[in-house]
Amino acid sequence: MRASSSPLRTPTSEALFAEAETLIPGGVNSPVRAFRAVGRNPLFIDHAEGPYLFDVDGNRYIDYVCSFGPLIAGHAHPEIVGALQAAAVRGTSYGAPTRLELDLARAIHQAMPSVEMVRLVNSGTEATMSALRLARAYTRRDIVVKVEGGYHGHADGLLARAGSGPLTLGAPDSPGVAAATAASTINVPFNDADALEHVLSSYPVAAFIVEPVPANMGVVRPRGNYLRRARELTRRYGSLLIFDEVITGFRLLYGGAQAVYRVAPDLTCLGKIIGGGLPVGAYGGRRDLMQLVAPVGPMYQAGTLSGNPLAVSAGLKMLELLRRPDVYPRLNRLAARLATGLRTAAARHEIPLRVQRVASILTAFFTEANVRDFGGVRTADTNLFAAYFNAMLERGIYLAPSQFEAAFVSLAHTDEDIEATIRAADSTFAQLRSAGYALRP
Ligand code: PMP
Repeated sequence: MRASSSPLRTPTSEALFAEAETLIPGGVNSPVRAFRAVGRNPLFIDHAEGPYLFDVDGNRYIDYVCSFGPLIAGHAHPEIVGALQAAAVRGTSYGAPTRLELDLARAIHQAMPSVEMVRLVNSGTEATMSALRLARAYTRRDIVVKVEGGYHGHADGLLARAGSGPLTLGAPDSPGVAAATAASTINVPFNDADALEHVLSSYPVAAFIVEPVPANMGVVRPRGNYLRRARELTRRYGSLLIFDEVITGFRLLYGGAQAVYRVAPDLTCLGKIIGGGLPVGAYGGRRDLMQLVAPVGPMYQAGTLSGNPLAVSAGLKMLELLRRPDVYPRLNRLAARLATGLRTAAARHEIPLRVQRVASILTAFFTEANVRDFGGVRTADTNLFAAYFNAMLERGIYLAPSQFEAAFVSLAHTDEDIEATIRAADSTFAQLRSAGYALRP
């Protein structure tokens, strides 16, 4: 995958990173972009097209990060670029309502009927933070329950570390989070409805916020009727159910995880795909709840650039692309092929690998354990992952630099890309095996 490079004229990733580290903490504007967990420095990207990233060193990579989820149609999709160009010349922000925002609100409502009203924001973090404020305003309760290993952005209360058990009050996971704020968050293990009921029945809980398919500890499948039970239990104990569909919305299916599992939450958080690759978020849900949001109601939430025509135009075009026939079957078929190929290759070389896939997101966990919650996730061998990551990168495959992230398949990936990835994995597993990595006894 190496193309010609001209290191004398173009600064290399290494040179750019060295300077970036002096001006930007860790050289990155989001810690997930750092390559520390895999023992190297990040690549600097020059441009991207379809399923490919091109770094400043002249290398091409098949990209499975896809900007951590938004780019379900691949990079620089011509129709999205066209929508952006058309929007840009009409002005990039007015601080006044537009027809485009109404069109996006309608499209979201039609995709997710539980979202009777919606408010656009600028990131997933803003969406979850606002949804929780709304839940507290409505229930007049303070405590929020989240899943151990679940990620909902970096708002203070959501950075609470998982405790040792479901009833452990969260402790701050980052300096700077007030102890009192962290203490109002309780973690429960995913896929454990009894633990959830215990917490809901013991504390005045405003909301249970959950990624219906967790993707931020790697992909974990909701088992049996877990989501349905979460719906019943939150209702029984007077708490709200918030689905954080920032990743799963318009990804698992057009209607998101709530369409797949047929569970209607009270509130839904969105982001990523609905911005077509531009900064966006949204929260919405039951009309009676959303009517509490200013200026109709007393719960204050605002944003200078919220609903700006650039992001909304890209998002609208993205949703239009996703309404075309065969989109989700194609995504799922490609991802299934990748998952099967990885499993087969790992088995051939006796590498312990558990590939968990839901629709077009998947994680290859280096473990033999059952991965059904954060405890299972933590059994993964991160050293083995780091070796795999580096060897795949050398072979032109760009994965997220952490064992605990999802790989995203896009509409731009082709069968040839998937096959090339499986071949790279096969050689990588052979290499790891000969380097002494083996099944644990
Ligand atoms: N919720 C989920 C499920 C996410 O995956 C993320 C980001 N990966 C967020 C919230 C936060 O979104 P943002 O990074 O846009 O603030």
